[in-house]
Amino acid sequence: MASVEEQAAPQPADESAARAGIEVENPATGEVIATVPDLTAEQVRELAARGRAVQPAWEALGFEGRARVLVRAQKWLTDNADRVIQTIVSETGKAWEDAQLAEVFYGANAFGFWAKNAPKYLADEKVKSSSVLVKGKKLVLRYRPLGLIGVIGPWNYPLTNSFGDCIPALAAGNSVILKPSEITPLTSLLMAEALRECGLPDGVFQVATGRGATGAALVDEVDMIMFTGSTATGKKVMQQAAETLTPVSLELGGKDPMIVLSDADVERAANHALYYGMFNGGQTCISIERVYVEAPVYDEFVAKVTEKARALRQGPPTGPGTTDVGSMTFPPQLDVVDRHVQDALAKGARAVVGGHRGAGPGLWYEPTVLVDVDHTMDCMREETFGPTLPIMKVGDTEEAIRLANDSPYGLAASVFSKDVARGEAVARRIEAGAVCVNDAVANYTALELPMGGAKASGLGSRHGAGGIRKFCQHQALLVSRFHLSKEPHMYPYSAKMTGRFGKLIKLLYGRGKRD
Ligand code: NDP
Repeated sequence: MASVEEQAAPQPADESAARAGIEVENPATGEVIATVPDLTAEQVRELAARGRAVQPAWEALGFEGRARVLVRAQKWLTDNADRVIQTIVSETGKAWEDAQLAEVFYGANAFGFWAKNAPKYLADEKVKSSSVLVKGKKLVLRYRPLGLIGVIGPWNYPLTNSFGDCIPALAAGNSVILKPSEITPLTSLLMAEALRECGLPDGVFQVATGRGATGAALVDEVDMIMFTGSTATGKKVMQQAAETLTPVSLELGGKDPMIVLSDADVERAANHALYYGMFNGGQTCISIERVYVEAPVYDEFVAKVTEKARALRQGPPTGPGTTDVGSMTFPPQLDVVDRHVQDALAKGARAVVGGHRGAGPGLWYEPTVLVDVDHTMDCMREETFGPTLPIMKVGDTEEAIRLANDSPYGLAASVFSKDVARGEAVARRIEAGAVCVNDAVANYTALELPMGGAKASGLGSRHGAGGIRKFCQHQALLVSRFHLSKEPHMYPYSAKMTGRFGKLIKLLYGRGKRD
């Protein structure tokens, strides 16, 4: 693949300020596939000035005009699906199908969804008030674009989690600067090319390639930050944004529990545990990261998961159907996974499948199933973010719920039971932003349903009405149409009027009853 420096780099005001480019590697092979610029703070400022200059014209196009571009982009994505998948696979090492299902499918749906629903979610809302002081006046809640949005994304889903939030931000009428992870910038650059081809005006969507410092520079330049990444970096972003009172929305890490109750369909539960534990190499914020199984079905569940995990194929993703579990993406993450597995083994766990790094070149870790685990082990407490599935036997439902909630994180969770009412009752007691019953992860594909973390897993949410309104200023309008030249409460204050207002307050609120 050719260098993409020319596509992304604005000309630096001062050549000496330009930094050496960042080499992008294919993590499945270790081969360098591209070089992208590492933008300085000055270059980010230039992108911001450009984005701000073109935003009013983009906003003025209205929902219709903007939807035309987004719908063209939807078609572009389906026409160019293979090229996009190839790009995602080349910079992440994930399986072809992981890129197709969780990225291209998501992106194609999202373009159409936001094009169609932005006018509905952002329509003026007429408000009725119980206040007698505003009787006869028109009250409206209105959503106006904030202006320039900064989106900072992680490396695990370059299309879905980096670029995905740019779609509603654009649909709302904002300009956007996207800072992708330094190790997976190519998909974002490809999407910038796609949007240009689809008629998006220059400068409305820009990509700021670079490292953490480039992301930090972006926080200082924009009207709102949409951040997806680790809890540690999310805290830094929020701290920095506090200096300028820039609003933030944070989608952070998780340690998602799965609970298998004794009356579960064990075959379905085992298939879900395996798939959503290993899918995308386990590098999904809402992966199943730990499983609690009630004692009566524990042995059957472990036997099924073990058999299915042994059948998984792992290797370089060279096309459709060539592998089940791809490589890992981020070199330091491989060390985290190995540290968690070794810690568990040292404390008495057993790896019934896998348990080792895979052979290089590339970043490989064997799909691993751990049993005899407990909460003294890092694999049950910290985000592992790799192809591992620790399974713990629990005595009863109460123990499962207590352990599921014994975590600083609260992103997502799942509960399996043939008694759906029982499953739902347990789901409602889990401290997580999203809980599925007899399913997992699927809620993420319902763009009507908000998705956001509880506890240390985030602040705010994506999808649904809130997923686009957060990119807008919520403006309250009061329009007085029929009125006197002076309101009764205005100067000069008089004992007579004060007495009347006193009576009015008593009449309205002094009865001690509900209306
Ligand atoms: P990081 O927090 O390391 O990085 C996220 C982004 O922030 C990257 O683009 C990174 O740049 C950038 N960044 C780093 N330092 C700063 C800084 N000081 N200021 C601004 N930006 C900065 O996360 P990962 O990329 O490792 O992603 C994995 C994490 O993301 C996991 O914890 C996962 O759970 C979470 N995640 C959460 C999701 C959710 O919806 N809740 C979805 C997907 C992932 P660079 O990479 O160049 O260092």
